[in-house]
Amino acid sequence: MNDRKALFLFDIDGTLILPGKTARRLFVEIIEQLTGKHTPLEFKHVAGFTDPKIVGEMLQRSGVSDDSVDQIKSSFFPKYFERMKLEYPVADDKIVYPEVQEMLEELRDSNNVYLGLVTGNMETTARIKLEPFGLNDFFSLGAFASDHPERNNLPPIAVARAEEKWNVKFSQDEVFVIGDTIHDVICAQVNGYIPIGIARRDDAISEFESVKATNVFREIPPAIMLKKLASLE
Ligand SMILES: [Mg+2]
Repeated sequence: MNDRKALFLFDIDGTLILPGKTARRLFVEIIEQLTGKHTPLEFKHVAGFTDPKIVGEMLQRSGVSDDSVDQIKSSFFPKYFERMKLEYPVADDKIVYPEVQEMLEELRDSNNVYLGLVTGNMETTARIKLEPFGLNDFFSLGAFASDHPERNNLPPIAVARAEEKWNVKFSQDEVFVIGDTIHDVICAQVNGYIPIGIARRDDAISEFESVKATNVFREIPPAIMLKKLASLE
């Protein structure tokens, strides 16, 4: 009998959803409010990075002195959460990728399949981002930038939570990290887990090649393919 199981850990931005510009705009506005300096934020500054890292990098670019960084960071997040709660739900530039709902329903209804999140968002904002699409119900747990600012430290936290919650033990080749950037791939590789790269952008293909990612798809594969990849089918 096949007693294999699989834990699929999903990144959020660029993987399950496209969050639109609200979060990035709020980063710029709130940093400006706190430092008096306008610090632009481009895709290359955010993709794959955790929120605390993004804020730290912005403060560095804005020339804030090292002594005030921690203090500004701690004022940043409460303001960011508050405004995300108000502004994200009404933003009209966010989408959930079309294959996501059915894929998650099928995985949820499959035997020996477990679901979680690994994201550079703080948990508060991860939940705000997923809520309008009804996706929080699929993810009772995960690891977030609020657990650790380094993405590479997050997958083992999610695995430990899953093992505790469901009273199971996952071997390294039963853990899959699904994401749209090389940072998702690397955080799987350094922990001995299996990365699945989602190359929605054209230039993502060569980026994934540069870190020797082997499981690369243009969108998230259907549940049946993910289960085959995990040797469950
Ligand atoms: Mg992402």
